[in-house]
Amino acid sequence: MDPRGRNMAVRTKLAAGNWKMNGLREDGAALARALVQRMVAAGAGEPGCQLLVCPPATLLTTVGGLIAGSGIALGGQDCHAAAKGAFTGDISPEMLADAGCTHVILGHSERRHGHGEGDTAVHEKILGAWRAGLTAILCVGETRAQREAGTAVEIVASQLAGSIPGDGVPDNLVVAYEPVWAIGTGLTATLEDIAAMHAAIRTRLPARTRILYGGSVNPQNAVSILGLAEVDGALVGGASLDAENFWTIARSCV
Ligand code: PEP
Repeated sequence: MDPRGRNMAVRTKLAAGNWKMNGLREDGAALARALVQRMVAAGAGEPGCQLLVCPPATLLTTVGGLIAGSGIALGGQDCHAAAKGAFTGDISPEMLADAGCTHVILGHSERRHGHGEGDTAVHEKILGAWRAGLTAILCVGETRAQREAGTAVEIVASQLAGSIPGDGVPDNLVVAYEPVWAIGTGLTATLEDIAAMHAAIRTRLPARTRILYGGSVNPQNAVSILGLAEVDGALVGGASLDAENFWTIARSCV
């Protein structure tokens, strides 16, 4: 049964907050405390979905300590594929797990486009995440030009095929559909386009795999987006930096 007593055969929705490169220790601690307060005040069964926060690496220990036991999960924003080694500036999946993470975001468009990561690198990172026992949140999505060219589904299908290792899809994979042009821009895909893309992704994944939507999700649009068939939650950037906004979005996961 999920937190609201529904049958687990129904996919439990996930509200994941990607804090990106935001927050010093005081900010991260205040945000974590504000979310924990809401969890405690709301009591069992709320917000009715799984909550995950993905702070910058420097805040993992602080935030992890504050959310421990609250039911809020901790995730990293990226990782290297290897367990250890001479990779200056990188963090291994094992290090994330050691810091208390259960999830890691991989293939985010800010990594794909800002750091030149392709499907092969993402594929290797997913294998690393699984090796360390983490759930990988694989991000896929088309650019504005690709949508306008009518190739959005083809692009996303090719990212899925290139990034997901092996033939079977294990339980510890979540897919996030994030149109690149909707991330951090205040623009969202139309409900029709989101529904159509999620349906197309579903045909390529097992029924148990959660498919999140991401791209300027906010308290105002969350109910309509999260109410769509095959939308199993949201990956939230900007709006996750405000506890009340993120909580409202999470409560929209019905
Ligand atoms: C993201 O970072 O994955 C994201 C969707 O950001 P935003 O909600 O700010 O568009």
